[in-house]
Formats: sequence, structure tokens, C-alpha cells
Amino acid sequence: MIIGIDLGTTNSLVSIWQDGKSTLIENPLGDFVTPSVVGVDDDGRIIVGSPAKDRLLTHPDRTVAIFKRLMGSNASIKIADLVLKPQELSSFILKQLKEDVEAQTGEKVSEAVITVPAYFNDTQRKMTKLAGRLAGLKVERLLNEPTAAALAYGLHEKSDNEILVFDLGGGTFDVSVLEMFDGIMEVRASAGNNRLGGEDFTRAIAQYFTEQLRHDGLISPEGLKKLEPKVMAEAERAKIFLSTNHEYESQLIEGQNQFAISIKRDKFENICESLLGQLQQPILQALNDCSISANQLDHILLVGGGTRMPIISKLVTKMFGAFPNKTLDPDQAIAKGAAIQAALKSHDESIEEIVLTDVCPYTLGIEVVTDTYDSKLVQGVFSPIIERNSTIPTSKVQTYYTVYDNQESINIKVFQGESRNTENNIYLGGVSVNVAQASAGDQSIDVRFSYDTNGLLEVEALVVKTGERKSSLITTGEDELNDEQVSESLKKLQSLKTHPRESIENTSVLYRANRLYEQNIGEKRELVGRLVDYFSGIVESGDDEKIKEVRARVSQELDQYEL
Ligand code: ADP
Ligand code: MG
Repeated sequence: MIIGIDLGTTNSLVSIWQDGKSTLIENPLGDFVTPSVVGVDDDGRIIVGSPAKDRLLTHPDRTVAIFKRLMGSNASIKIADLVLKPQELSSFILKQLKEDVEAQTGEKVSEAVITVPAYFNDTQRKMTKLAGRLAGLKVERLLNEPTAAALAYGLHEKSDNEILVFDLGGGTFDVSVLEMFDGIMEVRASAGNNRLGGEDFTRAIAQYFTEQLRHDGLISPEGLKKLEPKVMAEAERAKIFLSTNHEYESQLIEGQNQFAISIKRDKFENICESLLGQLQQPILQALNDCSISANQLDHILLVGGGTRMPIISKLVTKMFGAFPNKTLDPDQAIAKGAAIQAALKSHDESIEEIVLTDVCPYTLGIEVVTDTYDSKLVQGVFSPIIERNSTIPTSKVQTYYTVYDNQESINIKVFQGESRNTENNIYLGGVSVNVAQASAGDQSIDVRFSYDTNGLLEVEALVVKTGERKSSLITTGEDELNDEQVSESLKKLQSLKTHPRESIENTSVLYRANRLYEQNIGEKRELVGRLVDYFSGIVESGDDEKIKEVRARVSQELDQYEL
């Protein structure tokens, strides 16, 4: 069995193909959505999902979120006394989702399709695969999130469709144009911003609240700093509340003090105007890159939790003059699509074969030396060979000439990126060819790039005069991971214990109660405290039947203390 995973910045989900359809799998707490949050509990064990999320507030030093944004970077994240890489943190999430499926189906799981933003670059893709490997999963395929969404909407079963997928998640914004014809689903273009998401809307509200507090003059700058995590938590709640209501009002509690905060929907829409502006540019870019005009689109899909904000459908409707499709739960579409792809991969008979083609998300080219009008040489200039959003597999050739007299060789350095200056692009590898010594510009080589869907780039240089060929295979998407690094990671992760699965429901209630204790004051806080003590006592008794019954009751009682 191959499972389908939406490894999100904010939330992750897992789905399997069962009885001819995509079925989401619940986590131990009975939810489809597992927050992409990792923590270290008081006994030094790894804890994942919503209990970890509850501790973002109570134990900020032992908890970490939004690390997908760092994927592909060299960042080291400190959490309790551990130092972890983004891919290692991601592996904890993947491992839990894998175990959720195993617990539910009783089958061993070792393969997965994992979705990634369409414009994730090669390093980010590579690290996502590594995260899978660290979690004991062979990553059968990385699937672009928008393609997954289109699969979930069943658009692969229709014909001649132009589709635009608008995905606003927690930390990423992704626009893709897909085309479906003759059983082929093709990503025509993708654009986006991996630094823009629902989180930024939360931050805008947090900033507004902070200004409110500062304006009231009741709280010192240090006090404000201390309140930051609480302000963020309030802002998140306000944002979600405003998706279905017109005004949010609440109290912030710090020590013995209470501060009133509030925001109206109009105000919210006002303060996120610049964010809305930033959402438009990638849409225009994607349409422009594939020369499709807005009125040619047959479907506009809204996915990602951020699209639940009414301003987003408003913006999209206004931009396209057509209503977007949001019939599927925007949080679930991608995971559902991933399981459909998993079924395709394993050639499940209940699903008709479709072919997915891809585009290369970034431009591939080589470094050249150019001369200016006044014959000065400029080094380090990028010469594109395969332009971004070209459909792959593809093969392109360009001719280059020697620049120096008596030049003996040409060193081809391959880069990926959009900048004219290679320094700003990502170096992928190279190949060197010898040429006969002659005057500058006399010798030439044809450089051919052949790029396939597995992320393999074949670079071939043909010395035109001699017919001599030299080629090099550059892996841009596949693991050419440093084995030492991998085994080091594996060793580190194996030495860590995870919070036992059986007790996760109890822990989850206790962590939540502790969060509510901090969020409330006075009599309410006192009552929450008593619930904590009572339930801890029951848990210690070890009487499973009783624990289950009390847990349900305590959990329900806690609801009234949620702000
Ligand atoms: P990701 O793909 O990054 O994991 P999701 O698609 O799960 O993210 O979306 C998470 C984002 O959606 C968060 O910023 C969250 O605040 C936002 N979100 C979820 N529900 C709502 C809602 N009802 N209204 C507004 N925003 C929401
Ligand atoms: Mg997402």
C-alpha cells in the first residue's frame, strides 16, 4: 500500500486509496488534520500534532512550528536540548501519519506519495524525500500540490480543461495553471511565494492588537514583548472567527491584568490590503507564463485553509469575473489527491490511467561571459537554456563560443534560477570540454539540456569542429544525498524516544488544560486547575475504563474555558 501525504506548513493529513476512493485517516485524537508542530515533552520524548501545538503557548522553548518554510535550508532548530534540521522535524510528522495508517489498517506501510508546493526548488524537494526516508518511508513520488487538488476534484476524469489552482496555506501561496486533455494532466505554469500565507494575515491582526495595547498605554514595552505569543494566539483565533462573524472581541491576560482587544471584519479587510495585493502578482505571472487568459479558464479551485477567509473568494471572483470552486473542504483536497496519485502509482484497477506531466519550476542554464557594447567582458552571467515552466520531459540546445584567444577548454557550469547574475542562482554541477586553441569566438560548442520528470538533467556538450561529445548527468531532483549525513540523522533520530501512542489522548487533554489554565484567570483558572489535578489522578490510577470515561467528560468541560 502506498499512502498519500499532504505535508503542510501548518497542517498535515494522510489519505489512502480504499474501496475505489480516497479515504482520509484519523490521528489518535480522531482528527483528520494533524498540526505540523513538534515538541519535546517533559520526559524528553518527541510529541507531534495538536498536543504539541497546545504547548506552543505554555512551552515555547520546547515546541516548534512552521518549519516547512525552512525546508531545504541549512537551518538548525533548537528545541529543548536538541538541535534539529527541518527535514528531521518533518520526519516526525511523517512517521506519525505512517503509524496512523498502520494503526487503522493493521498493514505495514513503507511507501508514500508526498505533496510539495509546485515551485519548491530541487533542494527543497530533495529534503522532503529525505524526511520521508528518515521516517522509514520510500517516497514513491513527490506530487505538486495543485495537481493533487485537481485530482481530488476529479478533473482528470473530464476533458479539455484549463484549471487554475489557488492555494493559500499557512506559510505558502501557490498558483498553478493546469491543463487536462486526452488523459494527460499537465502543469502549464506555476508561480507563488513561499513566504506568504495565512500566517501573514494572522500577523497583521497581531500587529493591530499590539498597536491597540500600545495605544491604551496600560502596558510597558517589556510587557508587550512577553505577551507576544498570546497576542499571536488571539490573532489566529480572531482571523478564523472573522471568516464567519463580523466582530471579534476578547481579553488578554497577563499576570493580574486584563486587556481588552477587538477587531471588526471591515478593519481586518482593511489592514490586509497589501497582502491581497501580493496575492495578485503570482496569478498574473502564472497566466502570463503559459499565455492563457483568465477567461479561458474552465475551473478555479480554492484550496488551503486561508481560502476560508471571505476576502479571498471575493478577490478571486473579482479578478476572474467568475466564481471559484470550493466544494471540497479546502484543507483536505490535497491529501485526497495524493492518495489518488498513490493508487495510480500502484496501478489500482479501480482508477483509470492518467498521465501527469510536469513543468520544471525554475529556469536551467549555464554561466557565460558576455561582452558589453564597449567590449568589456562581464563574468558570471546566466544564460537560460530551459526556461521555467517548460513542460518536461524536454530537450533544448544552444550554441556558445570561446571568449579568449587560445582558450583550451570550456567549463560548463549549470545553474538553476531566474537571476541574470549566476551568483544568485543555485549551482547544480558542471562538465568541462577541451577545444582546439584558436582565436576568440572561433571555436564553438552546442550545449544540450535534456530534462526528465525524475528531475534528471543530462547536459551534453558537442564540440562543433571535432564532433567530440561529453556529457554529464546532473541529478536535480533525486537523492544524491550525502550518505554520511543521512546515517548521522538516522542515528540521531533513533536515539530519540517518542511519546507513547497509547497515552496521547490523555496527554492531549492535560496539555490543553494547562494551556487553558494560562489563558484564563481568577475563578475560571482555579476550576481548570482542579480539572487538571483530578484528571491527572485518574490517569495515575491506570484504570483504563475509568480514564476513558473521565477523559471524555473533562474534555467536554474544558470547552467552556476556551476563550
Ligand atoms: P498548510 O497547507 O500551510 O499546512 P492549511 O491549508 O492547513 O495550511 O491552512 C492553514 C492556514 O489556514 C492557517 O493560516 C490557518 O489560520 C488558516 N485557516 C484555517 N481555517 C481558517 C478559517 N476558518 N478562516 C481563516 N483562515 C483559516
Ligand atoms: Mg497546504
